[in-house]
Parts: sequence; C-alpha cells; structure tokens
Amino acid sequence: MLLQIAKDITHRTAQKVDLADAHCHLDLISDTKIIHDAIEAGVSTIITDGINIATNRKALKLADWKHIFPALGMDPETALAIKEHDLEKEISETEELIRANANNIVAIGEIGLDYMKAWEEKKIARQKTVFGRMLDLALELNLPVSVHSRNSMNDVIEILHKKGLKKVQLHYFEGDSDQAKKAVELGYMISIPPALTTKRKVVIKYTDISNLMAESDSPVVGKSPKEVDISVQMVANIKEIPFDRAAEALTLNTKRFFNIHPKPQGPGSIRS
Ligand SMILES: [Zn+2]
Repeated sequence: MLLQIAKDITHRTAQKVDLADAHCHLDLISDTKIIHDAIEAGVSTIITDGINIATNRKALKLADWKHIFPALGMDPETALAIKEHDLEKEISETEELIRANANNIVAIGEIGLDYMKAWEEKKIARQKTVFGRMLDLALELNLPVSVHSRNSMNDVIEILHKKGLKKVQLHYFEGDSDQAKKAVELGYMISIPPALTTKRKVVIKYTDISNLMAESDSPVVGKSPKEVDISVQMVANIKEIPFDRAAEALTLNTKRFFNIHPKPQGPGSIRS
C-alpha cells in the first residue's frame, strides 16, 4: 500500500519528463517564448547547431541560456552558397571562430554532405572539401560531430570511418537498416527526428536504444524543441516501451554523447 502511494507520487512529480533535443536551429526561432515553453515543458538540454559564420555567432550567444548548448560548423548548403574564390577565407574564418570557442561548444556541427543539393562532380568535391576540413578540426579539438546527410549516406560513413571519427551523430538519419547497422558497428549514434517513414520505423525497431538519440530539428522539421517529444514517442511506440523509459534512455544518450554538464545556476532558465 505504502509502496503504491510512493509510486503514485513519483508518477505525479515525474510528470515533467526530462528531455534532450539533440539537434535544432534556435537561431531561426525569433520568438523566445517558444524556447521558454520548451524548457518549461521539460526539455532541459537543447543542442543548437550553426551552419555558417552568422548562425555560429548566434548559437554562441544562445549559450547564455542555462539549457542551451551550441555546436558550430559549416554545412553543405553553405559550402555551395559561398563564391569559389571566397571559400578558403570562409573555411579559415569558421575554423578560427570554432577554435576560439572550443571550450564553449559541445560539437562540430552542422556539417555533412547533401547530394540532393549537389549532384555535379564539382559541387560534390566542394562539399567534401568543407566536410573534410570540419572533420579534421573535430579530431584536433577532440569534439563530437553532428552530421547531415541526404542521398549521401555511404560516402558520409566511408569518410567518417577513413578519418577515424569516433563520436558521430548521424542527425536526421535517413539511411536504411543496413546503413544503420554499419553505423552502429562503428559506434555512431542514430538521431531520430519527429518524422516517421517506413524506412525509419525499421531502423528504430532494429537499432538498440543505446545507439539512438531524439531531435526536433526545429524549426526545419519540428516547430519547437518541444517536439522532440514526438521523436521520443515514436521510439517508445515502435519499441513497445513506456514513454518515460524511452525518454530516460534517449536523454541520457544525448547528455553522454555531448558530455553535457549542468551550467551554474542562474535566475530562471537564463544564465545571464
Ligand atoms: Zn540541421
């Protein structure tokens, strides 16, 4: 009886389950109420990724928030958007910014290859140059990487493996179960966005939960970091486990992967 009451109380107080959003772009969310609401709803850890110098700077500013942890990078879209003769300058400046802030960030990201945006040899080569440089930097600074891939999973896995990256988050994983298996063998993490496809359902089913993370990829996919709960619910449903258990495992995975330590207490949810 006593045990039952204790359990009920735990249940009530645990109503707000601790959630972690392993990948999003808060620089694109101008209404800070959305971020406050997500934190209020229990998303205690939010990884926000920059894609170019301007968004990297915004991500760094957001680190003032107690619950927000920035990742800095140069993504494939940026690699294509920069004029050829400005590319080296852009890469060097990004590297400089990342090195100068290495102690204030949790990963190099967003980086990767996107063959939907670049199918010509020249454009692919350019993306590979940027991706390679960002991976070298991650190795130099001993930081995890948050990797985007679209229609490029085999190349992405091969490059990561060849370069010897160990801490890899395959964000918005869109590969099939064979690619997921290969990634897991290499110790990589499969990151699940709030969007269910038949392929992703199979990947979730056959990937051990210890190799999964949950992300909102907001505001690109989810509307807010809060929608990481949709990704968690998907994992819970497919694995046929309670939501709380899925949340606990996925949150722990994300905190471990990004080596998250609580920031010093500050007023409310903002540190300064
Ligand atoms: Zn992203």
